[in-house]
Amino acid sequence: MINRRKFITKALSAGALTITPGILRSASRSFPFIGTSNDLPVIISTWNHGLEANEAAIKVLNNGGSIVDAVEQGVWVPEEDPGNMSVGLGGFPDREGHVTLDASIMGPDGNAGSVCFLENIVHPISVARLVMDSTPHVMLSGEGALQFALENGFKKENLLTPEAEEAWKNALHKTGYDPKPNWENEPNKFHDTIGLLGIDTNGDMAGACTTSGLGFKIRGRVGDSPIIGAGLFVDNEIGCATATGMGELVMKTVGSFLVVELMRNGRTPQEAVEEAILRIVKKVPDHKKYQIGFIALNKKGETGAYCLKPGFNYALYKDGENKLFDSNSYYKK
Ligand code: ASP
Repeated sequence: MINRRKFITKALSAGALTITPGILRSASRSFPFIGTSNDLPVIISTWNHGLEANEAAIKVLNNGGSIVDAVEQGVWVPEEDPGNMSVGLGGFPDREGHVTLDASIMGPDGNAGSVCFLENIVHPISVARLVMDSTPHVMLSGEGALQFALENGFKKENLLTPEAEEAWKNALHKTGYDPKPNWENEPNKFHDTIGLLGIDTNGDMAGACTTSGLGFKIRGRVGDSPIIGAGLFVDNEIGCATATGMGELVMKTVGSFLVVELMRNGRTPQEAVEEAILRIVKKVPDHKKYQIGFIALNKKGETGAYCLKPGFNYALYKDGENKLFDSNSYYKK
């Protein structure tokens, strides 16, 4: 795994790859394949940090990498960006000043891996992938996840940047505990989790989701992102979905699994994400205080995005173009 990463990183930094959709067509397509390879690949991801992540994912595909490689390496971009205060290095710490990370990954074979409450590792998504690829388990947590990572060649690093530490110290002055990010006034500053979904030219799908979770959370709090079915779900016959926002709302409604099941029952990705948001509106009494965004992708390469209130955006790579879109919302303000 480490060798693969080095190889791809080298290829990316050499700038030898260009975004050429559909360049890698394969004669052997997975069944049932219902898109057309001309429309594929498609990559969709949450928030504006998704633009660069999509680009990295497409480069991996164009270089012959698998769809699992693509989603993993796509989310490396925000994970290793110290300026991104909601994912990986530079993420906001918990109330005790520790950066704790949650991540999950799922591939076209239905296999899944995740880590939660993991500290000191820049790429939790790759630890999640290793759990998926090299163990019979799905999820490792905290100390055990760290030990597993270190035993497998990951390096222990300090993830708390001076900027995040200062923000944490300022937050400590506030009394009470109200985990409500200031979504409406600073939507880009608090752009949160990256969830990235992709389908390749064979029609195979994968997804990755990685976050430092809520800023200044109670120590030990784990969100939806590492929970298979909540923050991420992939069914290669149907489609995939991922979530961002106040994870508790997604966990209570098993949001990403719900979106995929709705697609299984005939909904388009857009209809499915709208219904999942409606489920939260109906079932979670205090939902109005929070933001939730879902994105979804189906086997045809069609996509959907929807959120509770304005401010959520997503990056979509389709037909050779990578663009940022504002999501429609259930509440209009
Ligand atoms: N869903 C993540 C969590 O609850 C954070 C976010 O996307 O805002 O940990």
